[in-house]
Amino acid sequence: MIVMKFGGSSIADASRLRHVANIVKNYVQRKPVLVLSAMGDTTDHLLDAGNLALKEGKVEIKNVEKLHQETIKNLKLPVQKEVTVLLDELSRLLSGIALIRELTPRTKDYLVSFGERLSVRIAAAYFKSIRMNARAFDSWEVGFFSDSNYTQAELKKESWDLIPEKIQPLIKGNVLPVVTGFLAKDEKGTITTLGRGGSDLSATMIAAACKAEEVQVWKDVDGILTADPRIVKDARPVQFVTYDEAAELAYFGAQVLHPRAMMPCMKTGTPVLVKNSYNIDAPGTKIEHAQAAAKKSPPVRAITSKHKVTLVDIVSTRMLGQYGFLEKVFSIFAKYNISIDMVATSEVSVSLTLDTAYDLTDVKKELSKIASVEVKVGKAIVSIIGNVKRSSEILGRAFRSCQLIGVPVQMVSQGASKVNISFIVNDTEAAEVVKALHMDFFPAED
Ligand code: ASP
Ligand code: MG
Repeated sequence: MIVMKFGGSSIADASRLRHVANIVKNYVQRKPVLVLSAMGDTTDHLLDAGNLALKEGKVEIKNVEKLHQETIKNLKLPVQKEVTVLLDELSRLLSGIALIRELTPRTKDYLVSFGERLSVRIAAAYFKSIRMNARAFDSWEVGFFSDSNYTQAELKKESWDLIPEKIQPLIKGNVLPVVTGFLAKDEKGTITTLGRGGSDLSATMIAAACKAEEVQVWKDVDGILTADPRIVKDARPVQFVTYDEAAELAYFGAQVLHPRAMMPCMKTGTPVLVKNSYNIDAPGTKIEHAQAAAKKSPPVRAITSKHKVTLVDIVSTRMLGQYGFLEKVFSIFAKYNISIDMVATSEVSVSLTLDTAYDLTDVKKELSKIASVEVKVGKAIVSIIGNVKRSSEILGRAFRSCQLIGVPVQMVSQGASKVNISFIVNDTEAAEVVKALHMDFFPAED
């Protein structure tokens, strides 16, 4: 068994749905379970409609109605009744919001759930019409059970047993389940969502819980690339990465799966394949366990950069060797809910990086009581993700590249996770650094 997940842009209209059916047909032998997002930008449209009802008291579902009605008309699908029932329910919900002028997180989840509930019904009807044995399921019918943390719900442990209990008999019966991503229900039977982009997690959860062979996440890019293609023209897909590397890449700005979505598969070792639905023949990127991935790749997997970073230099004004200094520094940042990205320390000083978005006035005031503080904006983090067993070689080559183009490195840190070497340069020089590193670690193929 495999799990195949298609995001909103992969199922944006009738022609994209036809295309998805062709992809799925290639895999029927491997007994797929499909997980779908809402069609196109439906989730955003639903949230917009909710806000309009809340703020202006208007009920407006034209956008959502048009896309879904046109799709069923275009594909001549016999689901008019089901779709109309859902759209009516949506209208009534919006009228309620317009009337009481209240949109709680709980109602928001109910509101966005219409996107995925519509998409699976339409997709399953289409697959049936071309003689595939498809059946639509709301995820709670196949074991998605969560807490009540609306808009950011976490799946409960019980889901690990409930999901295979429901899915496996379907697979044995040669059914092609088409399941709503993103959604679950809580103890009270209320609809919840797993956070924006959550259908990746729905797919990896089914795959891990059912011990599937693999989960395929179909996107509109050729998998994970060696660098941002807007910076490096020669960027190419990475064929294999480990779960840890993929998580680092996601944190440092690459367009991959959210680290949360990888968790279930990381636990069970289920490989995650990122494929391009617009370029089926491209091999994509396989995310898997370290041993399997390590054998197959060069020391560096990818180079990323994160822009608009602030560097804070903090030098203790107290005695050398005083304990508790770092604790004080970090507790001040924690007090103001500021998340720190990179840290480098010496006996009396600490340098750290933050998003530029934070207002540091108060933090600076407090820090100044124990240290001299310098805040430098306009920096970037360049990260090299790869096999840090070879860190000396990687660092040597990286510094040499920076030296050659005359860019000073301002701070260095090697994550304990051993897959990430990061350094700080001026934001204006970051693109040049990424290009130089890419040229060194991924020389042009001819
Ligand atoms: N439709 C939801 C969203 O747009 C979930 C997803 O696409 O993964 O966030
Ligand atoms: Mg979406």
